[in-house]
Amino acid sequence: MTEVLDKLQHQELKNWIAEIIEQTEPEQVYLCDGSKREYDELCGKMVEKGTFIKLNESKWPNSYACFSDPSDVARVEDKTFICCRTKEDAGPTNNWMDPKEMKKTLDGLMKGCMRGRTLYIVPFCMGPIGSPISKIGIEISDSEYVVVNMHIMTRVGTKVLEQLGTEGEFVKCVHTVGAPLEPGEEDKKWPCNPTTKYIVHYPEERSIVSYGSGYGGNALLGKKCLALRIASVMGKEEGWLAEHMLILGVESPEKEKTYIAAAFPSACGKTNFAMLIPPPALNDWKITTIGDDIAWIKPGADGKLYAINPENGYFGVAPGTNEKTNPNAMATIRENVIFTNVGVTPDGDVWWEGLTEEAPADITNWQGQKHDPASGKPVAHPNSRFTAPAYQCPSIDPKWEDPQGVPVEAFVFGGRRATTVPLVYQAFNWNFGVYLASTIGSEMTAAAFGEIGKVRRDPFAMLPFCGYHMADYFNHWLQFGRSLPKAPRIFCVNWFRKDENGKFLWPGYGDNMRALKWIVQRVTGKTSAVESPIGYMPRFEDMDWRGLDFCRQDFEKIMEVDREAWKKEIQSHDELFQRMYDKLPKEFFYMRELLLSALWRSPAHW
Ligand code: GDP
Ligand code: PGA
Ligand code: MN
Ligand code: MN
Repeated sequence: MTEVLDKLQHQELKNWIAEIIEQTEPEQVYLCDGSKREYDELCGKMVEKGTFIKLNESKWPNSYACFSDPSDVARVEDKTFICCRTKEDAGPTNNWMDPKEMKKTLDGLMKGCMRGRTLYIVPFCMGPIGSPISKIGIEISDSEYVVVNMHIMTRVGTKVLEQLGTEGEFVKCVHTVGAPLEPGEEDKKWPCNPTTKYIVHYPEERSIVSYGSGYGGNALLGKKCLALRIASVMGKEEGWLAEHMLILGVESPEKEKTYIAAAFPSACGKTNFAMLIPPPALNDWKITTIGDDIAWIKPGADGKLYAINPENGYFGVAPGTNEKTNPNAMATIRENVIFTNVGVTPDGDVWWEGLTEEAPADITNWQGQKHDPASGKPVAHPNSRFTAPAYQCPSIDPKWEDPQGVPVEAFVFGGRRATTVPLVYQAFNWNFGVYLASTIGSEMTAAAFGEIGKVRRDPFAMLPFCGYHMADYFNHWLQFGRSLPKAPRIFCVNWFRKDENGKFLWPGYGDNMRALKWIVQRVTGKTSAVESPIGYMPRFEDMDWRGLDFCRQDFEKIMEVDREAWKKEIQSHDELFQRMYDKLPKEFFYMRELLLSALWRSPAHW
């Protein structure tokens, strides 16, 4: 069983894998080469087991659908731990446990946890192989679902081991579904541990252990665990940023290119914004996609900031995706796709809420039952996902794999807010921008277990992903900007404001180009703004309304800064601040007072 270890040149890697094999007691060990053959074989194996449903080959070439266990449909934030030496370093927003204690707990669970299963070794690279910004990880997993998803989401296989060499650094990632099989026991279609899950990070050791879940954000360890939680700690120590951000390119009619990075919480519009197609009237503007979820950003020798997308695919929200809202996503998922928790028809088609007006008759819902329209239950889980290769996206930027990254000139922060927060505004300066990003609120979504719809502070859309003390993170951002000769401009957006009847005030999707155009023109000095108590804002005439029936009153409604609501909003920042009072940047107290006093003093119509 340990023959595969002989193929490895890296002694530390070898020792570590040998240890994990001894601990987890798999039936077989398999070293992944990253080939298409390997991918196809594993998918075939899952079809045999009933985990995967092969979709209609003429409609969805080389694509599969699967249903997860109902306990395993989203990230589990309350089971996610940052285990550094002191609780203080993890900060008040992370779950913490002493690494020694956690290891005791996990040792008990991991003993023999892969019995009856195959242990897969998946060498993967976050970022283009060979880029000075990229990082290598090795994920050990007993889940075929994880292996094939890693094939799409990261660069995997022999080429990564070659890059790693004999001494290279790597992040140790162990994943198990936490469901050992007794001899002769039949496997479940979606093995997982319905009651016990642990997503554990040891930032000081640069290692990750994930137990009990097969869901993407919990199990594809390159993504949230390495590229955000572990990388954010690396970034703090080494002077760079690991962010929950999409990266897009904007080409103006004059062919001037501006790259922008934007952070919105999970299921708040990153993938859609990254693949935006401008409305026909604004098609003299063109958007290209670098990434849709994660950005690693480093200062270059020229003082500019350079960003890469460490991923190789998209793990996108299915519901709401259709030919009108996101044609680029629809084209991206034309083949080689894995759907998780969408509805499936008997003839191998898929469906989710928002794909078309009505669900096909005879559709099986994500729980594997025949859909009953009268039940009120959705066909697809609200957090159902597609996994698709990045290169299949029609809007992919020619530089998306540039090892140097692309220069980022603005940061955009947003959330899902039915009230209070205007469509778009610009921070007065870097410090104010950091303050606004630190205090952004958003309604919780189905991407994580929790109270859906409740507004919570989600600083930088990083609340679930920052691997260290949140106030240290704020300080890192402040310091980072101070060290730049020309810091990017910072903006806030909200596509989700609603009227009294609960209807969205803003058409969103492609029409977000109108806000984006204003943002780019602010960055390039081509448009103006007025001051409001919370930042610079476009006037009606500063935005491009061609092709949209949106009058001045509509604009005023969506841009309104209600003073009473904003006083409450800013006072509510205290809720977050009180939890980290001792470490909070001193600047924040002054900025908070400035914002409040501007609101007290500003006339009804600023
Ligand atoms: P991500 O998880 O941050 O990448 O978010 P997605 O882009 O996948 O979008 C999450 C959900 O919000 C999907 O159901 C989208 O259809 C929906 N969505 C995205 N952008 C907009 C928008 O501009 N307006 C509205 N109303 N919904 C949006
Ligand atoms: P999302 O990615 O941001 O596209 O929703 C998954 C997640 O954050 O859980
Ligand atoms: Mn995300
Ligand atoms: Mn997304």
